[in-house]
Amino acid sequence: MVSARQAAYLQALGVDVYVPRSSPPWQTEVAAEVDAPAVPAVAAPARVPAPKPARAPSSIVRREPIALPDIAANLDWDELRAAVVACQRCELHATRTQTVFGVGNPQARWMFIGEAPGAEEDKQGEPFVGRAGQLLTSMIRALGLRREDVFIANVLKCRPPDNRDPKPSEAVSCRGFLERQVALVNPTLIIAVGRIAAQNLLATETPITKLRGKVHSFGAQAWPVVVTYHPAYLLRSPGEKRKSWQDLLHARQLFGRLEQESASGGRA
Ligand code: SF4
Repeated sequence: MVSARQAAYLQALGVDVYVPRSSPPWQTEVAAEVDAPAVPAVAAPARVPAPKPARAPSSIVRREPIALPDIAANLDWDELRAAVVACQRCELHATRTQTVFGVGNPQARWMFIGEAPGAEEDKQGEPFVGRAGQLLTSMIRALGLRREDVFIANVLKCRPPDNRDPKPSEAVSCRGFLERQVALVNPTLIIAVGRIAAQNLLATETPITKLRGKVHSFGAQAWPVVVTYHPAYLLRSPGEKRKSWQDLLHARQLFGRLEQESASGGRA
């Protein structure tokens, strides 16, 4: 059921491919779809930013957008990048080597959002580098995409000292930048990478085990979000890689459905 290309990437992920007899319903559905044609090319022609969606799949778990100071609304990419570089909205500006804005295709259909830069990211100025970054790249490839086709960002643009978790106040301070990034990219689907990213994006304290396998929404335009484990966690807990593969299958199936709805006018 899995193509040779996907099998190669799954091997890189350390995942043995099989479909358990008691697969959850969504897993069975997507497993049956693995042989389907590859997802549409991500490096798509320029897209005009979409207006507010007319509707979203009924399965999306909606939360009211958080009212935030309008720190970045209406900024273009260059202005936004400059605003982040100059930002001193929280204490993290004092200890960063540099800000870590995000990388990738500014018109990507897939967006991956992690929690915050680590030591290596702080040094290089790019999110998801090092071993965890390599594993994220393998996960992206498992979806049939290239790293440069997607957009990768973090909830925080500056590194928390000693790799501590972001403080809620820091995430709130930085959220306007992330919301503007998402609005400029206007992705079809967001993957929240890891518990911290998911809980901050979705403004919830629900454990990641209960956030996985569902469709959530982020921001004023209710961009669809699915949740998976952070690659750093997968490196520490390789037994969980199978679950991350299930998450990717879920994401791929949802992406196809959202693109189909968009093409038929269901989602602007
Ligand atoms: S983490 Fe965000 S809000 Fe805090 S200083 Fe950096 S860019 Fe500004």
